[in-house]
Amino acid sequence: MGSLLIGKKSLSNPYAAGGNAYKIQPHCHSTSSDGERTPAEVMAAYKALGYDAVFLTDHVALNSDPEVAGIQWFQGCEYECKDEAEAVQAHINGWFCESVEGFGPPDPVGITTLLALMKLQPMLIGLNHPTAAGQTYNITMPDELDQMANDIGFIEVYNGGFVVQCDDKWSYCLDTKTGPVWGIASDDSHLADGSQDNKGWIVLYAPSLTAANVKAALQAGNFYATGGAAITSIVVSGHTVTITLPDAGSVYWVVTGNKIVQTTTGITSASYTVQPKDKWARAIIYRNSNGKYAWTQPFFVE
Ligand SMILES: [Zn+2]
Ligand SMILES: [Zn+2]
Repeated sequence: MGSLLIGKKSLSNPYAAGGNAYKIQPHCHSTSSDGERTPAEVMAAYKALGYDAVFLTDHVALNSDPEVAGIQWFQGCEYECKDEAEAVQAHINGWFCESVEGFGPPDPVGITTLLALMKLQPMLIGLNHPTAAGQTYNITMPDELDQMANDIGFIEVYNGGFVVQCDDKWSYCLDTKTGPVWGIASDDSHLADGSQDNKGWIVLYAPSLTAANVKAALQAGNFYATGGAAITSIVVSGHTVTITLPDAGSVYWVVTGNKIVQTTTGITSASYTVQPKDKWARAIIYRNSNGKYAWTQPFFVE
């Protein structure tokens, strides 16, 4: 019976379109909000670190292109919502946003109002640092997460600033939400000395770095998130996903319920056959040489 069921269902592959690999920073700050470097200084710093593109995502503030040669700038913004007591409840990134008009501060905007306002613009929406211990924007699960799960397309599984992994909250979204939610890793860098740079980023596959191509690849989930572990290739054949690494590491397969169902250690290649009872499956990669992680996007049984 199991194989019959598997035969009728297919496994989605967000990486099917392929493309050139681009190193992109999706979340960082400049003097347009509370960052210590000008937008041009931020771009130059990331160019020196080998990045192809940067989304400047200042707090409720837009930037214009600082036009630093050799690295692509994209518009972004870190929006925020507040409860009646004016405590920040959540930080939510908008990529390719167009306006900050009507967003707080100074007026408190609750989670549902904020998301409704963001959806009026053709931006991509992602929840930032959902786990931030001791902060008011530590998202409670399930209560606050339930209020936003269906409106976010992305979630930070890793934020270099908070140095915290949010696999549980990402898996919860995948379990409860109707559409996909893709995992992001970022720096959330603020400091002039660069000490927060290059802790988390995404590797995105696209034909070129036009805004249209990058937006389409983000929407399709054609990228992986990393805190410093690299992935050479991700290949889907039938219901089997094979991940190849450039050097020795471990691959952990996570499925519905945030359960780890397969662990392979000390390898450069690992395969997992997604089971029909899995609504989705995704891999966490650990790199032996530097102790860093990476995350593939989920593959959905459809
Ligand atoms: Zn934030
Ligand atoms: Zn931030």
